[in-house]
Amino acid sequence: MSQQTANGRIEIICGCMFSGKTEELIRRIRRVKIARQPFRLFTPSRDTRYGLNQVTSHSGSRLEAQTVRSISEVLNACHDVKVVAMDEIHFLDDPPERIVAACQQMADQGIRVLIATLDQDFRGEPFAAIALLMAVAERVDKLSAICVCCGAEATRSQRLINGHPAPADAPTLMLGGREMYEARCRACHIVPRS
Ligand SMILES: [Zn+2]
Repeated sequence: MSQQTANGRIEIICGCMFSGKTEELIRRIRRVKIARQPFRLFTPSRDTRYGLNQVTSHSGSRLEAQTVRSISEVLNACHDVKVVAMDEIHFLDDPPERIVAACQQMADQGIRVLIATLDQDFRGEPFAAIALLMAVAERVDKLSAICVCCGAEATRSQRLINGHPAPADAPTLMLGGREMYEARCRACHIVPRS
């Protein structure tokens, strides 16, 4: 292994809504900045909750980010960096295999690839790209939140429509904050199936 590629790795920070994924991503990027390593932070252009060109955690931390629509845009913009960080990558349009191949390629080239993402959709089903990435990653941190119903450890995102659980046939991706999502445990997570 050459010195240049020795630092290549994939790190996944995953979990449900409100589990502090973006906060942890921002914490790791702060350390990258202190180490003066060249990095670039990307966020999907579909995630516009807090305005373009910024990654913002629910607790208010923020960092400048480049918005992208596809993983190809990330690949094209990652020359001369040591660290590539991506937030909310479940929002990218690409097929799962394409996302995994791109992350592997960057890591093989010696880049530290930092990813913060949901691991499951609102039904509790895995996002395919994330499941595959977790298998090949050097490090996976699965964060949890607290169930708003019972106070247990929450691992799932409950989607609500007018205060009621969203049905299983609702669209997989819908942007929303606390008015539309709650953190819940396995027992309290409800997905009505028609
Ligand atoms: Zn619960």
